[in-house]
Amino acid sequence: MTSEALTVGEVAAWMDEHFPPELQEEWDRVGLICGDRSDPVTRILLAVDPTEPVVNEALDWGADLVITHHPLFLRGTSFVSADTAKGRVVHRLIRAHAALFNAHTNADAATGGVAETLAEAAGLDPKTWRPLEPNSAHPELGIGRVGELPESTTVEALANRLAELLPESPAGLLVAGDPEREAKVVAVSGGSGQSLLEAARAAKADVFVTADLRHHPALDFLEEDGAPALIVPSHWASEWVWLPRLAAALELWAGERGVALETRISKVVSEPWDAYIPTLTSDNVEL
Ligand SMILES: [Zn+2]
Repeated sequence: MTSEALTVGEVAAWMDEHFPPELQEEWDRVGLICGDRSDPVTRILLAVDPTEPVVNEALDWGADLVITHHPLFLRGTSFVSADTAKGRVVHRLIRAHAALFNAHTNADAATGGVAETLAEAAGLDPKTWRPLEPNSAHPELGIGRVGELPESTTVEALANRLAELLPESPAGLLVAGDPEREAKVVAVSGGSGQSLLEAARAAKADVFVTADLRHHPALDFLEEDGAPALIVPSHWASEWVWLPRLAAALELWAGERGVALETRISKVVSEPWDAYIPTLTSDNVEL
């Protein structure tokens, strides 16, 4: 037992152990975005996006580390001045001696990551699931999961189950396909899963749960034989599900180490959208 606080470096090493950086996609950026590995950590705020409101919330609470799913800078940048929102994020964190760490596609791919948490939320039997897009070096891991429900259900019942488990968000949940269709084999991928549409069909999924599907690819896909029904939560909500699980795992680890650690899930709904207004309310429009 020790009463010493964890350090940024120790938390970063724990994250890398559970969500190995080598599982990240080639284009991705994961790891310690800013911060000093020797600084102490007693409060960690977890969020999907490292936006200004998230960082303000973290620092108002007294967090010394923010862990997000998405990177702050995915592409190279030449400026981190406080002229931009991303620059202000860096400035505010450094002034507060706080750190920012992210685990993105490595967290999608790993055991206990985003895809597996979404697969659990959908009710899939862990003994049956496998990656939708296996990692080339670690084929037992990878992006998305496809597996079986212990008992068949319907697309509608599965959508309702997910609606109860996902966080409240303006975008809600969209469904494509016959609501009465049997759902036994289910594919899931947190975030944008458009590139995995064909993989979901090839895996003979009855339903594919993923976000950010564009009009033409989704419409063309649904017109072809063997296309799974689609359940489409918001990008944010589909990845948010991982945060409570990560918070619990971090607290368990700190407890085993005998160090004080508080975690909190950000209350910021970092979707681009702020309001949902149904459009079938006008008498002037007849379809
Ligand atoms: Zn994402």
